Amino acid sequence: MYNRRKFLKLSAATASVAAISRSAIAKNLYTTAENKFPIVISTWDFGIAANKAAWKVLEKGGRAVDAVEAGVRIPEADMKNHTVGRAGYPDRDGFVTLDACIMDENGNCGSVAAMEDIAHPISVARLVMDKTPHVMLVGDGARQFAIEQGIKPEKLLTPESRAAWKKWLKTAKYSPVMNIENQQSRQGSKYNHDTIGMLALDAKGNIGGACTTSGMAFKMHGRVGDSPIIGAGLYIDNEVGGATSTGVGEEVIRNVGSFLVVELMRQGLSPEDACKEAVQRIIKKKPEIAKQIQVGFLAINKKGEYGAYALQDGFSFAVCDSNKQDTLIPGKYFYKDGK
Ligand code: ASP
Repeated sequence: MYNRRKFLKLSAATASVAAISRSAIAKNLYTTAENKFPIVISTWDFGIAANKAAWKVLEKGGRAVDAVEAGVRIPEADMKNHTVGRAGYPDRDGFVTLDACIMDENGNCGSVAAMEDIAHPISVARLVMDKTPHVMLVGDGARQFAIEQGIKPEKLLTPESRAAWKKWLKTAKYSPVMNIENQQSRQGSKYNHDTIGMLALDAKGNIGGACTTSGMAFKMHGRVGDSPIIGAGLYIDNEVGGATSTGVGEEVIRNVGSFLVVELMRQGLSPEDACKEAVQRIIKKKPEIAKQIQVGFLAINKKGEYGAYALQDGFSFAVCDSNKQDTLIPGKYFYKDGK
């Protein structure tokens, strides 16, 4: 009798745990106390629209790498976005040259740099990853490859971008200026953003990342920043997490920023603390330059915990999971107005 009662009590307890689990599952498809995914995060406020496109892939149980490619194609196509893709500002010679890279959960990666005439560099990076034995194609080789893969070339310099370039030519003394695109508006305003870096953790707990940009406005022809460089603008290690960056790419490359963030997470730092430490490295090496420029890192770990840190105020990132949709979070930072 005692045994039977105990059995019934245990069964009831098990049933109620099962009921809780079922309702938790119904409410929030994959999230458990330990893990929070699927989830997608991306840099700046234009990440909100990009995350929505990525979420459509994730909520159906799709792969993180497919989600991030779909996601960053949104700002790449946005005619009002002068820092990513189709409508990006040109270099100092009037050429729009685009950079992008992508990385999946198996350590596969693809990248294109200084590519002209192709509106969606992220999808060319994906094709480099999937269809070639290489990681990176640049310049005319990247353009040729895209065309061979059936992508139609088009002239990318929009009338607005052309007008901005012509205006710049009048005063610029033909020299590239770091963060020129941001100096037209107050630092931290809605115009103060550059690259989209996106990180997703899918329903299986696998990570994918993408990063795409038109780079520093009015840069020297042939200049490539951090965004298409695996380890600098983006890095994924499916055992640990992923990281991406935005801002002045030269400083990110010098510190192999995204790889550094992932390695710091491997050593036990939280995503935010890892980003903070990477920013501190930039400050330590070049304190005077660090006050004048923007760099931001964004990271996620295998549990779906995320965080960010930037040199300057104004950096923000967008988060989308089954609880938070369209959420924009202000990044923490070291300097306000360069001080
Ligand atoms: N990180 C990119 C670059 O340096 C663009 C940016 O975010 O400003 O090309």
